Amino acid sequence: MKEEIFNPKGKLIPELQEFLVPLGEPKFRATQIFEGIYKHRYRTWDEFTNLPTALREKLKNHTDLEELTVSHHLVSADGTQKFSFALSPGKEIEAVWIPRGDGERKTICISSQVGCTLNCKFCATGKLEFQGNLTTWQILDQVLTVERIVGDRATNIVFMGMGEPLHNYFEVIRAAKILNHENAFHLGAKRITISTAGVVPGIHRFIDNKEPFNFAISLNQPDPNTRSDIMDVNDKHDLSKLVDSAARFVRELDRFITFEYVMIPGVNMSSDHIKLLGKIAKKVDKCKFNVIPLNTSFHGWSRPSDSEVERFVQGLKKESRVPVMNRRSPGKEIGGACGMLALSRDEEIVSIS
Ligand code: SAH
Repeated sequence: MKEEIFNPKGKLIPELQEFLVPLGEPKFRATQIFEGIYKHRYRTWDEFTNLPTALREKLKNHTDLEELTVSHHLVSADGTQKFSFALSPGKEIEAVWIPRGDGERKTICISSQVGCTLNCKFCATGKLEFQGNLTTWQILDQVLTVERIVGDRATNIVFMGMGEPLHNYFEVIRAAKILNHENAFHLGAKRITISTAGVVPGIHRFIDNKEPFNFAISLNQPDPNTRSDIMDVNDKHDLSKLVDSAARFVRELDRFITFEYVMIPGVNMSSDHIKLLGKIAKKVDKCKFNVIPLNTSFHGWSRPSDSEVERFVQGLKKESRVPVMNRRSPGKEIGGACGMLALSRDEEIVSIS
């Protein structure tokens, strides 16, 4: 009979030590278990040949090496792959494998929550019922599972799947630490990006803690009078406070910040918007823009044409004098591009121009 079941996945080495020492094990076993899970990718205790047999038997009785279950897997012609995971019936999350260009850059976009509370008007995830935060192991198992099925390793991880990472701060940061850890995934901190729709207290917490990870803010509307029309989060944390927090980030951490910007014709692509973005870029100083063409069609909105995108990108580059990158939409055909996670669950909203 199993008793006091402990899941060693998603725990940092000191937390594993706290579990092992009362079992009469030396502390260094914690590092071996940590490495076994995340470096060697062992899935059952029998595979942990770096541990004595007696300990493996003990661990079988005291722990559970849980795994996520893949419920759907879609492969796009552009190489993007979307994975859905069923946490329990009706409770699903998604992750996307995004290889780029020459194959040098391979990104996994992961979820941090089941659904989202923020209800951004352009985002499919916002239409889902919020069903809770993911734990650290559930966040990391998306990476382990995608890498195992794809048969490759990611060079970059972005917390840009379902959910608001800063509403699940502790689990997200612990997952990022394990992604970064040399005995685990060993990805550079700058290759791990945490993105927020603008949860200002979370941004200050990130700065106070001097988190080393790459950071992005989904700005999406530089007009203080209309940002709340498309993003509810702005009612609570308004644009001026958001921009102040971005400026503080750059000033105190001395690093670039990225602004994500979903381009919606008729909503946020005019020359006035470009001027306002230029002012924000000046205030924040070290920043860059990642622009993304709208991938959904809620509220009668449509995707910008290539020429609209080009005009906007050129205008923004000229006005802001900072780098502007068009993220395009890998995985659009399989509902795996930005803002589309969850679309497949509601056939009515799968209509992309
Ligand atoms: N909640 C966090 C993490 C999700 S990131 C955040 O908002 O940053 C998801 C990214 O996709 C955000 O930059 C968002 O602005 C963008 N996005 C959402 N819906 C989109 C859509 N329909 N088309 C294109 N990009 C979209």
